[in-house]
Amino acid sequence: MVDAAVLRGQLAALGVRPGDLLVVKASLSALGPVEGGAKGLLRALLDAVGPDGTLVTLAFVDCYPVPLSREHARLVTDERTPSYAGALANVMVGHPAMRRSRHPIQKFCAIGRLAAELVDNHTPASPAYDVLRRVAELGGRHLKLGPDERVPGFGTTHVAQNLLGFRQRLPRRGVMFRDETGAVRLFEANWAGGCSRGFNSFIPLYERGGAFVGRGRVGDAEASITGMNRTLAIDLEVLARDPRFFFCNDPSCYSCRVSWDFSPRTPRWYAARYVLPPLRALGLGRLRRALRGNRG
Ligand SMILES: [Zn+2]
Repeated sequence: MVDAAVLRGQLAALGVRPGDLLVVKASLSALGPVEGGAKGLLRALLDAVGPDGTLVTLAFVDCYPVPLSREHARLVTDERTPSYAGALANVMVGHPAMRRSRHPIQKFCAIGRLAAELVDNHTPASPAYDVLRRVAELGGRHLKLGPDERVPGFGTTHVAQNLLGFRQRLPRRGVMFRDETGAVRLFEANWAGGCSRGFNSFIPLYERGGAFVGRGRVGDAEASITGMNRTLAIDLEVLARDPRFFFCNDPSCYSCRVSWDFSPRTPRWYAARYVLPPLRALGLGRLRRALRGNRG
């Protein structure tokens, strides 16, 4: 069990300083047992950046196929909607001093000196990842607690994809939200993003480009701090030259192989390769046997 004092010491050794502006992402399971769990970790992080510091995290919420089902149409997202991003994001959402994006889906959550400035203007009209662009502009850093395989990316690659105008063809998805007049309306996802499993390809370039500010361990987890203006500059430079650089190496990844304007495959190819064969394998004879159950 890592107690609060040890946690504070490890964060300081990693390079977290009072006054820091940090985008934090953590895998609690990678950290191992921490005193107070996710709440204890948040307390230690807030202590480490102090009253002049700011913590930001991605606290995005689920969205659903459009047109929405009757069940999904009843859900109206607001600043307290739980995030799928994990325990730390959700204890931040529950914190009395938190500010949360008014963006209906890509909801950032922030606590500290710059929280309101960063998050209050993140509205349905804003670019989905704009808070991260502004953090980079303000000299903020990305704090990752957990291995790169489990916590992919360094907070800037989706920003770069959108700044470069990359486009994705995706099925329509959305949520209901309350607009500034109080009316409940549909908001549809309208940005590029998707698969981040290939983002670790940037790591050697970040190393060469001096983006790593700190590396070490927090609890049982590998931890790193990267300068977001550096990683964003590298992302922009690399992706302007080679838009496919971020693709993961899973041949069945629809997001990478099909969805982008510059993806190598078509939806028809994908269906023939990955959708129809399993359907065929579930042919009538098999289906009949499956329904009959295991009666020998
Ligand atoms: Zn992928």
